[in-house]
Amino acid sequence: MRIDVITLFPGMFAGPLSESIIGRAIGRGILSVHVVNLRDFCEGKHRQADDKPYGGGPGMVLMAEPIFKAVESLSSQSSLKRIILTSAQGSLFNQEKARELAAEQDMVIICGRYEGVDERVAARLSTDEISIGDYVLTGGELPALVLIDAVCRLIPGVVGCAESLEQDSFNEGLLGYPQYTRPPELRGMNVPEVLISGNHAQIAQWRRQSAIRKTFRNRRELLGKVSLTEEEAEFVRTLERVEG
Ligand code: SAM
Repeated sequence: MRIDVITLFPGMFAGPLSESIIGRAIGRGILSVHVVNLRDFCEGKHRQADDKPYGGGPGMVLMAEPIFKAVESLSSQSSLKRIILTSAQGSLFNQEKARELAAEQDMVIICGRYEGVDERVAARLSTDEISIGDYVLTGGELPALVLIDAVCRLIPGVVGCAESLEQDSFNEGLLGYPQYTRPPELRGMNVPEVLISGNHAQIAQWRRQSAIRKTFRNRRELLGKVSLTEEEAEFVRTLERVEG
């Protein structure tokens, strides 16, 4: 996959893109990320990227024209199917969206700044307007890195062990199950007996039940979309009675 990121702050990408799983995916040629400096497409002596908002109000707005030009400069432009605008006003990013994007060959991510981006970018240029959560960040660079990370790990071959993706949170609509590692006893807390029993069927059942409990406690609204066996549904009813 090729990802082009359009930003006024290219320096924010070097570290995160060079480390760990993403760094290795880039090193192995599974992923390529090109950081495009928006300033290169701005005009005038000061290469101004922003201007005052029409209608008045505080702050500055990123101008649309340099962003259009930056996207038009990309060699893959004619075949681009996904142009993503990072925006607190976008639809919420989730694992389903990450899977959808991971199936693409290319994508462009536009990083907003200041009071945001001239709306004509959302209206005419971007295919998706995506928010990574209900809070406001200073710019679209961290959201872009979040998208790259979540999408990258779903590209076949990026995460060494495909099984580890299957057990990730959200894969089956549930949060992930709790994990433990050595030592078996720590500060008076023991690893659940079943996990060191070697009984794989019981371990699988414990994990599924623990994932349901964790989802019930932390993200109860997700349970409505998960397909549960009759026994599991009864377990949820018990949790409701006991934990409220
Ligand atoms: N005034 C804007 C609003 O109320 O929606 C917020 C602008 S924010 C300070 C500047 C840029 O950061 C946005 O254009 C967007 O690119 C990015 N940004 C901020 N929060 C975000 C979020 N939750 N998800 C995705 N991008 C975000």
